[in-house]
Amino acid sequence: SELLDVPVLTAWLKRADEMVAARQTYLSDLDAAIGDGDHGANLARGFHAVTAKLGTPADPAALFKTVGMTLIGTVGGASGPLYGSMFVEMGKAAAGKSALDAAAWADVLEAGVKGVAARGKAVPGEKTMLDALTPAVAAAKGAAGLSAALSAAAEAALQGAEATVSMIARKGRASYLGERSAGHADPGATSAALLLSALAEAAR
Ligand code: ADP
Ligand code: MG
Ligand code: MG
Repeated sequence: SELLDVPVLTAWLKRADEMVAARQTYLSDLDAAIGDGDHGANLARGFHAVTAKLGTPADPAALFKTVGMTLIGTVGGASGPLYGSMFVEMGKAAAGKSALDAAAWADVLEAGVKGVAARGKAVPGEKTMLDALTPAVAAAKGAAGLSAALSAAAEAALQGAEATVSMIARKGRASYLGERSAGHADPGATSAALLLSALAEAAR
């Protein structure tokens, strides 16, 4: 597909629900190492609620808004308001469009990631989901065509998540560990990479 329309975005959320459910224990184990061990359960609950509530939204903006509000209402913890803000801001950026091409998707993702940074008062390098999301935006912006943009964003997010292993957490529960947070991947960065790889798969 060369456009992200409501059917493709709906397929994304179904794939995200499946992938998060399949990796729920892995995500919670990552969180147990440097946080409170609930990240997988939080996200599994949230994306299950998203697929149950989604229905047939009128356009991508309405879809993103429903996803954001549902995540805010069901995920809890730090990641619920953060991922919720991301989708709410993506909805605002997608207003008036029936489908998104590569350039529009890069702009929408950028708006969402800015929402995460604003809500979390975080910058890249602090061992959070932003360390996967920020390079994903840059990769999406530099790619030619939608499938290239989605693959590049997913790959950049994965590399960004892997790079959190050596970082010291400066935000969220993991920051309580200080230097002892190094040596473990950040769970939120890992789930962000998972979500972007689900999108690349759904749009294929
Ligand atoms: P909690 O820490 O409340 O249990 P989760 O376990 O669901 O929430 O989510 C933890 C993830 O949230 C972290 O791995 C990190 O990626 C992300 N996170 C936490 N605080 C922030 C922040 N201020 N800015 C960006 N991301 C954050
Ligand atoms: Mg947690
Ligand atoms: Mg928690």
